[in-house]
Formats: sequence, structure tokens, C-alpha cells
Amino acid sequence: MKFCNQCGNPVDQRIPQGDTRLRYVCGTCEVIHYQNPNIVAGCIPVWGEQVLLCRRAIEPRLGYWTLPAGFMENGETLAQAAARETDEEACARVRDLHLYTLFDLPHISQVHVFFRAQLADIDFAVGEESLEVRLFHQSEIPWAQLAFPTVGRTLECYFADRLEQHYPVRNEFLGPLLAIKPQP
Ligand code: ZN
Repeated sequence: MKFCNQCGNPVDQRIPQGDTRLRYVCGTCEVIHYQNPNIVAGCIPVWGEQVLLCRRAIEPRLGYWTLPAGFMENGETLAQAAARETDEEACARVRDLHLYTLFDLPHISQVHVFFRAQLADIDFAVGEESLEVRLFHQSEIPWAQLAFPTVGRTLECYFADRLEQHYPVRNEFLGPLLAIKPQP
């Protein structure tokens, strides 16, 4: 951040009185610009034995497969954000959303949250941010072409939990070096 979004004058970094962290502070109007983690919300849209994945048409990770997910907007709930992203990326409607995985990613100041969800129908289509959208059986998942570690980990958990028909909510920490493990 270089300029204040309140008055347009330059900002500098300092620790405000009563605070313990460096913040961007406007030298003119004194507004403190707090920066906090971003929340990414998404779904595992399920249709029978299959799950829906989207191939990304945008950076980062253009051309790689992902579960539909994206940044939460102001004024919506987590589940609404997950359903909206599914609609935007896959033109798909979901129901019965259940909180499933929650990943802390402090190295990029993000939290990723995925819901298990049922596809309401299979009238999905390629959304603006996707190149391709399709259903996959477990054996068809393109493990080596997944866009993000949190997507791979969520799919791993899902297929393991499906065997037990028990889906505990999982809160995991994913460090910067954790790669997607290939499925045996
Ligand atoms: Zn200012």
C-alpha cells in the first residue's frame, strides 16, 4: 500500500500507539489501514459417486483443476459465498451445504473453507472463470493437475470419509512446503 484510500496522500508503516504491529498509517489524515486475512469459500459439489471440478481460466494456476471456490464478499455468509462461487464458476446450484474442511494458511494470510454440497441438478456449464467443468469419479481425479493444496487435501479427506460415511469437520494447518500428495 502506498497511498491512503481516504485522502489520497502517502502512507507509511509504523506501530500505532497502543498497538504491537506495523500498520500502514496515513501521514495526513492519520487513518490506520488494517490488513487482515482473506477468506476463500468453496464447495465439493457431489452428484452420486461423482464430484464436480472446474478447470481454471484465470491466474493463478490457469489450466489446473479446482473445486469451485473464491474470495468471500462483504455482506454474505460463508455458505452463501461457497454457493455463489459454485454458481459463478460452474453455473451449478447446490443444496444441503455442510461445513467440512477449514485450512489455516498464515504464510499467505488466507483461510480456506470448503462445504460438502449436493448438486441440485446436472445443468451445470462452463462459467466465466473456467475453461471446462465436469464430474469426476474418484479414479478419474487429476491429482497431479490440481490447482491448490487445499483442494487436493479436501478431496483426499472426502474420499476417505466417504468409505466410513462419516464426515467430521477438519481444521488443518497447511504450511508453505506442503505439496499435494499423489493418490495411490
Ligand atoms: Zn489519509
